[in-house]
Amino acid sequence: MAQRTAVRPEEIRRHNVSLVLRHIHQHGEVTRAELTAATGLNRSTIGALVADLVGLGMVEEYVPPGRDRAGRPSHVVAPRPDGPYVIAVDIAVERVVTAAVGLGGRVYSRRATVIEGAARSPAGVTEQIVADAIWLASQLPPRARPVGIGISIPGIVRRRDGFVEHAPNLNWRAVPFADLLRHRIAEVLGSDLDVWAGNDADLGAVAEHQRGAAFGLDNVIYINGSVGVGGGIIADGAQLHGFGGYAGEIGHMTLDPAGPKCHCGSTGCIETYIGEHALLRAAGVEDEHGPAVVARVFAEADAGDEQALAAVHEVAVWLGRGLANLVNVFNPQVVIIGGSLAGVLRLGQSSIEAELDRRAMSAARSGVRILPPGLADDSGLIGAAELAFQSLLAAPDSPVPAVAN
Ligand SMILES: [Zn+2]
Repeated sequence: MAQRTAVRPEEIRRHNVSLVLRHIHQHGEVTRAELTAATGLNRSTIGALVADLVGLGMVEEYVPPGRDRAGRPSHVVAPRPDGPYVIAVDIAVERVVTAAVGLGGRVYSRRATVIEGAARSPAGVTEQIVADAIWLASQLPPRARPVGIGISIPGIVRRRDGFVEHAPNLNWRAVPFADLLRHRIAEVLGSDLDVWAGNDADLGAVAEHQRGAAFGLDNVIYINGSVGVGGGIIADGAQLHGFGGYAGEIGHMTLDPAGPKCHCGSTGCIETYIGEHALLRAAGVEDEHGPAVVARVFAEADAGDEQALAAVHEVAVWLGRGLANLVNVFNPQVVIIGGSLAGVLRLGQSSIEAELDRRAMSAARSGVRILPPGLADDSGLIGAAELAFQSLLAAPDSPVPAVAN
């Protein structure tokens, strides 16, 4: 039996204040009675912990109107609009989106910038984020303070230190991006903000699990498909990271060894059949790419254009084949299809479902739903915010941010 060590009251208090803040962060606005029920702590302890969080300037309490005759109303606890916020960054091939996100996942302000050429280099994107951090702060109450930066990147990212091994569609290789940004923020803003980075699909899965279409579900696959195709997997309630943190490269499942060459070095990866380039090729679009062109193909399909419809159908069938493999291996409750593939889902769901019926094993197939993201295009952005909030949630009253995993 493990040796017992005495736990000091201060440690218990810190654990409990973290527990309460996590609950408020998850739900946005809760009553004291809900906090009591959710944490199993007694009413006076909850009162003291909420008072701590009020004292830290993170939450505010108010008595909801109209309940004064029905006995004592329970105080409502909510994040303060001028409380701590994180700077969430979603880097895509064509644009950078930044947002100031507060506790409870509230997006207070946001900005999107198209990037091309030198602006798409690590240095260019760094400068954009620094400029956005200044602009976001100017949109918030003066008292609001940033507590970290979280970045969603379409590539292979080492979570521990935000080192980008390879982001093929940005043409980044071996970039210590979190370090670059941390140094530049310190130089320009004079603040030592923590910077965290993760793979876009991994972060999208977290966001959809916490606040989106997979809320309350423990077996989830999130696929983010645009130019590249990535995946994030939540299995039995835990995110699947893999040995080096590189799990979820769904885009590089081999569907046909005799298929097209893939940038990863292999051939016939599913990305070469369901990525945007494959959709545009099938739709007969030459020498054009980007979100606007993909949107045009979807609009043509909506209008009944035969070639556009056939292109969507072709991509949907390949997507269904890939999903059948994933459903057989992971037995998810829900598969969420985001990025431009959400358009393929909208127009081609019957083709996807038919291919799943044909190829997935019936026991796993019968329990799975295929859904668009609950957070629309913001899954990666909100997931990046969650990443940046980890330190604060782990130790709300710690002057030095704790190390997140
Ligand atoms: Zn590949």
